[in-house]
Amino acid sequence: MSGKAQSDNPVVKVTPKAVARLRAGHPWIYRSDVAQAEGSGPGALVDVGESQGKILGSAFYSSASQIALRMISAKPLPASELPQLLRERLLAALEYRQGVVHDSDACRLVFSEADALPGLIVDRYNDVVSLQPLTQAMDRHKDALMSQLWEQLQPAGLVERVEPRIRELEQLPPAETRLVQGEKTKTVLTMNGVRFHFDALAGQKTGSFLDQRENYAAAARYARGQALDVFCYQGGFALHLAARCESVTGVDSSRPALEQADQNAALNGREIEWIEANAFDLLRDYSDAGRQYDTIVLDPPAFAKTRRALHTALRGYKELNLRALKMLRPGGVLVTCSCSYHVSESDFLAMLAEAAHDAHRTVRLLEKRGQAQDHPVVLGIPETSYLKCLILSSH
Ligand code: SAH
Repeated sequence: MSGKAQSDNPVVKVTPKAVARLRAGHPWIYRSDVAQAEGSGPGALVDVGESQGKILGSAFYSSASQIALRMISAKPLPASELPQLLRERLLAALEYRQGVVHDSDACRLVFSEADALPGLIVDRYNDVVSLQPLTQAMDRHKDALMSQLWEQLQPAGLVERVEPRIRELEQLPPAETRLVQGEKTKTVLTMNGVRFHFDALAGQKTGSFLDQRENYAAAARYARGQALDVFCYQGGFALHLAARCESVTGVDSSRPALEQADQNAALNGREIEWIEANAFDLLRDYSDAGRQYDTIVLDPPAFAKTRRALHTALRGYKELNLRALKMLRPGGVLVTCSCSYHVSESDFLAMLAEAAHDAHRTVRLLEKRGQAQDHPVVLGIPETSYLKCLILSSH
């Protein structure tokens, strides 16, 4: 066996533990499993080798992230072939969405590892496309990717989105979210027949949560009566419920989000009551006051950002779900979500069972849902699966 690299890439040697992870199909190697990385610069294409020298494939190297290597090919890939590989993968990602995205002109077009384009996020919001590089390597290749997107999709605006914290972690120079090509950065998108304003240059993530798109439609199928959407942001669930419910109230602690939600309601000709409040306080006050609803949605931000925060996070989820269950009329529907990767579906279900017990309710599981299909989950890469959305009925 030669095991020799057929490329001129620098070789990064990794520990046996990393080799085992790669063989199991996981594309990441942590810095603690890098044995030797001499000669590999920030964002470089490198070959990954066992300590004895056998080459396991090629990866993008980050000199800053705890994820030192993200595999891009299971064979050594000459640098001259990388642009073609990226082009093919981008095309494959676009083609996949054509098959799975329905009733929407907004979706995630590229979801990083799930599309074998580690460190790249591309979203489409009607005629505005946004690209976000998450790593040193994708930052190097973004111009080529953006020209390809421009050609393929012919949007009215192509935006590079920047999350300052991610650039900081990757030790990339600071940059601003900016229009790269075309003239449009604001648009109106439509999903499931509901319209939303979108502004690619607005500071906060705007428009809607694409990963909940199918769950909005599912929630609307069960919704009825008086509805409460807690952590409503710009009204994703609330607006979908409005078509089915007598009344809808949306709650969020962010005033700018609620102002945008109100504009979205106007855009759809809906009347929704928006309340600016801390959800924990409001649910406590409302449940103590004996308020009742027929439909409640809970879609809080990720409470467990790390594994260590799991216990505290579950306490937070339980508090919210317990209050919500107590406030449901018999036969009422609870749509409850968690976008914390560290909270598994079974942790979430166990927490809900406890909440149901404490609330003296019998709770039926109507649907167990996850991310929309444009955020595919890849077997063997657990990090690609993070969103839980359970639809329950309470008796
Ligand atoms: N359901 C929304 C997404 C929710 S994101 C959608 O489908 O678009 C989480 C939201 O929780 C954010 O809008 C944030 O402002 C809000 N939030 C965070 N902490 C909160 C708190 N303690 N009380 C109320 N809202 C909160």
